[in-house]
Amino acid sequence: MFSKILIANRGEIACRIIRTARAMGVKTVAVYSDADATAQHVLLADEAVHIGGSASRDSYLKGDRVLAAALQTGAQAVHPGYGFLSENAQFSELCSANGVVFIGPPVGAIEAMGSKSAAKQIMEQAGVPLVPGYHGSDQSPATLKAAADQMGYPVLLKAVAGGGGKGMRQVWASDQFDEALAAAKREALNGFGNDDMLVEKYLTQPRHVEIQVFCDNHGNAVYLFERDCSVQRRHQKVLEEAPAPGMSEPLRRAMGEAAVKAAQAIDYRGAGTVEFLLDVDGSFFFMEMNTRLQVEHPVTELITGEDLVEWQLRVADNQPLPKAQSELTLRGHAVEARIYAEDPDNEFLPATGALSYLRTPAESAHVRVDSGVVEGDQVSVFYDPMIAKLIVWDEDRERAIDRLTNALRDYRIAGLTTNIDYLYRIADSAPFRAADLDTRFIERHNQLLVETPRTQLTVEQQLAIVAALVAEPAAPVASAAGDADCSPWQASGDWRLNYRHRRHTAVAVDGCEYRIATELADGAIHWQADGGEQHVTGTLSCQRSGDQLQLVIDGQRSSASVYRAGQQLTVFSAAGSFTASLVAPDLGDTDSTDAGGGLLAPMNGTVVAQLVEPGVDVEAGTTLMVMEAMKMEHAIKAPSAGRVAEFYFSPGELVSGGAELLDFSAAE
Ligand code: ADP
Repeated sequence: MFSKILIANRGEIACRIIRTARAMGVKTVAVYSDADATAQHVLLADEAVHIGGSASRDSYLKGDRVLAAALQTGAQAVHPGYGFLSENAQFSELCSANGVVFIGPPVGAIEAMGSKSAAKQIMEQAGVPLVPGYHGSDQSPATLKAAADQMGYPVLLKAVAGGGGKGMRQVWASDQFDEALAAAKREALNGFGNDDMLVEKYLTQPRHVEIQVFCDNHGNAVYLFERDCSVQRRHQKVLEEAPAPGMSEPLRRAMGEAAVKAAQAIDYRGAGTVEFLLDVDGSFFFMEMNTRLQVEHPVTELITGEDLVEWQLRVADNQPLPKAQSELTLRGHAVEARIYAEDPDNEFLPATGALSYLRTPAESAHVRVDSGVVEGDQVSVFYDPMIAKLIVWDEDRERAIDRLTNALRDYRIAGLTTNIDYLYRIADSAPFRAADLDTRFIERHNQLLVETPRTQLTVEQQLAIVAALVAEPAAPVASAAGDADCSPWQASGDWRLNYRHRRHTAVAVDGCEYRIATELADGAIHWQADGGEQHVTGTLSCQRSGDQLQLVIDGQRSSASVYRAGQQLTVFSAAGSFTASLVAPDLGDTDSTDAGGGLLAPMNGTVVAQLVEPGVDVEAGTTLMVMEAMKMEHAIKAPSAGRVAEFYFSPGELVSGGAELLDFSAAE
C-alpha cells in the first residue's frame, strides 16, 4: 500500500478521502488555493502545499502544479476526487509519465467516456441498451433534424462534450428544432468549447438509476447495486437514494450486469458509475459513464457497508477487489441530501458569505455528515456552493426518510441562505414518501415544494419563543471584581423590589410587527403579544445555556437553539426555523427610533456607503451608514444628535453580524 497520497481536491470530498487514508495508515498531502489557506482539508491532512490563486483555473485545475506538489512531498499516488482534474485524461497521463499513480481508470477509459457520442458507439457494440438516437459524426443541422424527425418528438439534444446538464435542450416539435439546436450549440460552445450534438429520444417519465461498478487489474469486476437520483433540478441531482425504490431482483441483476459489461467494454479499472434511464415499463438505457467517484457514493457505502475510497486505494495499489459479487449484499435504505448555500426563493441563486452559525446533527450509525467546513468559514464565489452532504440510513425507506427529515431539522445554519428547508419540504412531501419518482419530480411537484410554509411553528409559538428570549435578563456585565455578578446592584434582570417589572419590546416576525410585553413572576414569564390579527397571552418558562433553549410553553416542553446577530434572532426548533427582528422602541419623537443598538451590524453583510463625515454634527435619526445583507439594504441611523468619531469599516468591506460599525458620540 502507498505510504503517502496527495488529494487533488478541496472541500468535503478531500476531507472524506483523508479520513479513509488515515484509517488505512496512509499519510496525506492536501493542496490548496489562496482562498483555502485555512480550510478543513488543509488542517486535516498531514501536509499541505499551496498551489495558486483562488480561482480554480489558477490552482485546482493546474495539473502541473498538482503533480509538482506530489513530487515535492514524495506522494506516490494522487486521488483526484470528483470534478476538477478527475476526468482529465492529460492529467492522468502526466501523473503516470512521472511515476505517480493516478487513482482512477486508465487514460483510455477516461477518453472513451469523455465524449457522449463515442461512449454510445462503444456501448452499442458491446450490446449495452441505448436510448434510440443519433450519435454520428455528420453534424450538419439537416442531418440532425432528419434524425429527430425520423425518431419522432419529443427529442433531447445533448452536447457530446457536455456535463452537469449544460448544453441540453428538449425539443417538442419539428418546427422548434432549429431554434433549440442553435441555443444548445451556443451553450455547448461556451461551456465545453465543442458544439457537436447528439439527438436522443426524450423519455417523458424516466427515472435516473445508476450502477456503481468496480474493476481491478486482475480481471475482477463487480457492481455495488444501484442509486436512484431522479430527484433533480435542471438535470442536477438534489436527493439520491439506494437502493432504488421498487427495484425487482431480476431488474437489479440485469442492470448490474449491463453496467459491468459497459465497464469491461472499455477495460475499466477502479470505481465508476454507469448511468441509466429507467423507463416506466422497466426497460433501461445507457446514458453515460462517470469515470470517477461520484458525489453520491456514500449512499452505496451505507447499504453495502463497504468503504469505496478504501476500494479505490486497494485497486490502485494493484490488489484484487476486496469482495466478489456473491459476497456483496445490500441492507436497509440510505438517502443523501446535498446541502447548498443557495436561495430557493430566488431562483436558487448561489449564496456566499460566512457560516456565522453552524450546528450539525449528531452523527451515528444512522446519520453521516460529509462536510469540509466549520462555523465561521466562508462560502466563497470561487467554488461550488455545496456546504455538505447529509446521508442517513435505516432498515427501510420510510424510516430512512424520517431520519432525514429529523436530521435536516437539526442542521442549523445562519449567516447565509441555504436549501435546508427546501430539502425538508421535498423529503417530507407525500409524493416523495410514496416514491412517486421520475426525473421531472421537482417540476411536477413544484407548487407543493414552494408553497408549504417555511416553518411549522404557529405564529403563537413563534411569539412565545421570542417573548422568552426578550424576557431574559441581559448578560451580566463582565467585571473585574470577582463577586460583582452576584450583587443586586449589578443585576440587569427583571427582579424588582416590591413590584413586577414589565418589559415592552417590538418585534417583526414574518413581515408583521408585534408588541410583546413580558413580566417575570413566580419563576414564570407571563407574556402578551399584539399585532396584525393576533392577540396572544400565555405563561412560559425558559432555560438557556449558550445557544440552547429549554422552553415550557403553556405546559408543553420543547427545545430550540437561537443565534443572534445584532437585532436579528434566528430560532431553530424541531418544527422549523424562523427569524425575528427586534424593532427599536418607538419613543414618540419620530426620528430617534433607533436607540436600540442600531450601530451594530444587523447581520453579515457588506458596507455600501458612509453618508456622513466623521466629526460633523448630525441630527438624531440621520442615516450614517448603509449596509447590504441578504440582498436588502439596511440604514444605520444616529440614535441621538451627535457625531461619528470614526467608521470602523469602509464601503465594500464585509462585516459580520453583531460587529460594531462605528464610534458614535452623543451630543452633550
Ligand atoms: P450530464 O452529463 O450533463 O449530467 P446526462 O446525459 O447525464 O447529462 O443527463 C442528465 C439528466 O438529463 C438525466 O439524469 C436525466 O434526468 C436527463 N436525461 C438525459 N437523457 C435523457 C433522455 N433521453 N430522456 C429524458 N431525460 C433525459
